[in-house]
Amino acid sequence: NHDIERIKNLLGTHEDFPKKGIVFKDMFPVFQDPTAVEALIANIVHHITSTYPEKIDTVVGLDARGFLFGPLVALRLGAAFVPVRKQGKLPGECVSAVYEKEYGQDIFELQKDAVKAGSRVIVIDDLIATGGSAGAAGELIRKCNATTVEYVFIMELDFLEGSKKLDAPVYSLIHL
Ligand code: IMP
Repeated sequence: NHDIERIKNLLGTHEDFPKKGIVFKDMFPVFQDPTAVEALIANIVHHITSTYPEKIDTVVGLDARGFLFGPLVALRLGAAFVPVRKQGKLPGECVSAVYEKEYGQDIFELQKDAVKAGSRVIVIDDLIATGGSAGAAGELIRKCNATTVEYVFIMELDFLEGSKKLDAPVYSLIHL
């Protein structure tokens, strides 16, 4: 697919960032090109609407890059957008879930009333590595008695097999 090739060519690659030994993939150069953003959003929305004819109620975006294009997808689906954030950032009553990071743990939170019981949810982020953060988002959605229909990423690091940790199908535009 020509659009996916174009998006792939726009991604930045930074060796030894944020620390030595890590190769960081940067989605931000894609956002400098509005026609590439259009192609990205159109691809994701077309995939979702053609795979899941039943209404999607909510797009849950992960802190922080999921906030930048999750709302664009939600708007086109006619769905709500709800953020998952690191602990202590969201006001009001929240549900929380712990997940493993490379060093130690982190906590994700979701505002309790933001995702209604029985609703159908898409989780969205820029990249899946080990699947720890997406898995924690899935746990938050289960705590709201809602259903994750699919996890959507721009990039997936296939060799880490993060998608095996998740409780719903995974759609990634670019496999690395
Ligand atoms: P995981 O929890 O191990 O799947 O890591 C995924 C999380 O780390 C996502 O929130 C990503 O935004 C972030 N992340 C890990 N590696 C990269 C990268 O190379 N580029 C951009 N984000 C990354």
